[in-house]
Amino acid sequence: MPEPKHTVDRGVIPRYEDPIRIVPLHVPRDLVADLPHAGPTPAPQLTYRGGPLLANTKVFLVFWGSVWEHAQSGLATQIKHFFTEILTSPLIDQLGEYSTAQFKIGHGQLIGSTVVTSPKPHKSISDTAIRSMLQHNLAVDSAFPQPDANTLYFVYTPPGSAIVQGGSRSCQAFCGYDESIGWQLFYAAMPFPNCNGCLGGLQIEQALTSTSSHELCEAITDPIPGQGWYDDVHGEIGDICAWQTKTVGQWTVQLEWSNKANKCV
Ligand SMILES: [Zn+2]
Repeated sequence: MPEPKHTVDRGVIPRYEDPIRIVPLHVPRDLVADLPHAGPTPAPQLTYRGGPLLANTKVFLVFWGSVWEHAQSGLATQIKHFFTEILTSPLIDQLGEYSTAQFKIGHGQLIGSTVVTSPKPHKSISDTAIRSMLQHNLAVDSAFPQPDANTLYFVYTPPGSAIVQGGSRSCQAFCGYDESIGWQLFYAAMPFPNCNGCLGGLQIEQALTSTSSHELCEAITDPIPGQGWYDDVHGEIGDICAWQTKTVGQWTVQLEWSNKANKCV
């Protein structure tokens, strides 16, 4: 499909300029209660904007940095188990209400994983660097599957590195995001959650499966941010329910907004 024109009505905010696409930091409940009430906000309701959905997601995991082969290899193994199980779990089934005539949302699969050591991750990793790393490895490494309409790359960065996107920084403003390169390549960026704001009181593994489930469900229902299922006030499916968790099998995952149930489920 051709990339849509970003039409700018003069004096009006461009429609696709900056849709909400991040996992926000965890805010403790007592702080939320103290926030000034800004007046009633409309109830969440995701509406479909006509873009593609990931009907049967093919997840490829990219662990960036040699630490994933050494000190963090156990965590990498757990993340692989998580995706193997969660992609065929009730978490995916519950997204079925967002199927369209063209995209019937069903189970996905983990199609592989790799550890990328070249280029080396820097202490500060820009979104541009993530895109370059993906495009470089797609060009030179035959182990990297080429993108198709269902492929979703999950990029995990190492402890000690922060991701910088849209002028803000992981652990200071966000704990992950999903993005696309045009209409061709879908990816999620997952910073290592070694800060209170991205742990939300959970252990590292649980925090990472929670934020990963958030981005997975958003990538399925809104792979090009703002052009799938989206709410102009509240954002994507996971944003509405950020940091509310449940377990599926052994895995901690985030609740997701259900239009049908009119709540986070
Ligand atoms: Zn989100």
